Amino acid sequence: MRKPIIAGNWKMYKTFDEAVAFVEEVAEHVPSEDKVDAVICATALYVPTLTAIAQDTALAIGAQTMHYENEGAFTGEVSPAQLASVGVDYVVLGHSERREYYNETDEAVNKKVAAALAHEIVPIICCGETLEEREVNQTAAKVTTQITKALAGFTAEQVAHFVIAYEPIWAIGTGKTATAEQANEVCGVIRSVIAELYNEATANAVRIQYGGSVKPENIDELLAKEHIDGALVGGASLAPQSFLALVEAGARVND
Ligand code: 13P
Repeated sequence: MRKPIIAGNWKMYKTFDEAVAFVEEVAEHVPSEDKVDAVICATALYVPTLTAIAQDTALAIGAQTMHYENEGAFTGEVSPAQLASVGVDYVVLGHSERREYYNETDEAVNKKVAAALAHEIVPIICCGETLEEREVNQTAAKVTTQITKALAGFTAEQVAHFVIAYEPIWAIGTGKTATAEQANEVCGVIRSVIAELYNEATANAVRIQYGGSVKPENIDELLAKEHIDGALVGGASLAPQSFLALVEAGARVND
């Protein structure tokens, strides 16, 4: 049985005081880690403060991106070693916004996954198709390529601990959620790609999130599906009550 994982991706939202107030409130109320993993992915700038507040609670803190080099002349970037040194637990890699606006390629994502692994940071590897790709039946091909390239060079044992997020680009921030059936179908494709690249046991161990306009009103239906093990949530992760409702839905799955 896979443990659900609910991750909030705050993107470029919240001032420092707002972020602190949120984590102070939410960390107290997050259900036990036995039932669900709850993660807030904030700007790297806030990570050291947020990890300190969330220490000894069931709330984990993640980053939204990172470079693959540990150090160097890369003005403005944040390295895996730097994130690890401030206690980051997770990092979102290959988000469609990073791919679109910052030219993040599948090859870079693959290097970043290796860097995360080297620092014991759990990668949340994103994939997903555009509306145009869906309309010409390229969804399965797109996610297969993204996932195959992201996972190149890792062992089955390593991959079993990765988190994959299927986020159809047309459903992000649009209020247009994929139906639970559509989301489950593509998460199933991802699981079968992992079964082919590795084996059934690895495919059954990997947790696959759905992301794209997830909210408290639609999460139960998504989590009820065979291949959906959690959610990567933008807008609905910004308010404490809404994020907690999502995490509580995750905690109910294996009750
Ligand atoms: P929304 O939940 O706002 O659609 O964002 C999804 C997302 O991109 C999470 O990474």
